[in-house]
Amino acid sequence: MIKLEREVEPQGMIDNKAQWQSDLQSAIANYGSYKKIPDKEKQKLISFYRNDAVRDGLIKSSFGKCAFCECIPSEGGNIEIEHFKPKSKYPELTFEWDNFLPSCRKCNGSKDSHDTGVEPIINPYDIDPKDAFYFNDIEIRASNSNLKKQAEKTIEVCGLNTVRLWKPRADILISLRIFSRSIEEATEELANADTDRKRDNRIKKLREAIDTIEMLTDSAEKYSSFCCDFLERSDAYLKAKQLVENA
Ligand SMILES: [Zn+2]
Repeated sequence: MIKLEREVEPQGMIDNKAQWQSDLQSAIANYGSYKKIPDKEKQKLISFYRNDAVRDGLIKSSFGKCAFCECIPSEGGNIEIEHFKPKSKYPELTFEWDNFLPSCRKCNGSKDSHDTGVEPIINPYDIDPKDAFYFNDIEIRASNSNLKKQAEKTIEVCGLNTVRLWKPRADILISLRIFSRSIEEATEELANADTDRKRDNRIKKLREAIDTIEMLTDSAEKYSSFCCDFLERSDAYLKAKQLVENA
């Protein structure tokens, strides 16, 4: 999970949401509760938030990734518009822009109607997940902070420590280890450079190795928080970074 910034609310939502919400509230009043509205009628009443402007705005803000697990849903299905506070429990937030998140089907399904009002989880638009999580090997963990309870609940509710995420993290870990080895080798070669020309060439090589590994931490890359966390704790990377900066 990475920190996300909300895009501007689409004009179509601003212009129409009061009417859509009012129609939904009338149906709730007629039938006695949100739950009691006949399914077909309910689907029609709530369908208006599912439009391209909303979807595009959310996808842009999350670099096309699921806001929770950082997979790219377009590779295995479409991104879904998820209500942070579930509309079944908070129907008054059905058309609220700030209540939307782009999510993959797995996270959306796993979170289901979990009541974030009662048991809060991390919303990456509002809280920097960097302050809440770290990785231990391929497992995500809650950091020891005032966000610990929320972070643990997020991991549980969205299923962030399951095989479907361990597998891609393990694949990335292999790449990170391979790139780390290149950095270590380039660092060693640099230490053994006995002429200025060799030294310049080897600094260049080290810089390239650093650039390669840093590409994985770009926000648009899948699971970039996992890669950032790895590099922040990689001695080989930190040492190489310092060598290049001082060169
Ligand atoms: Zn997801």
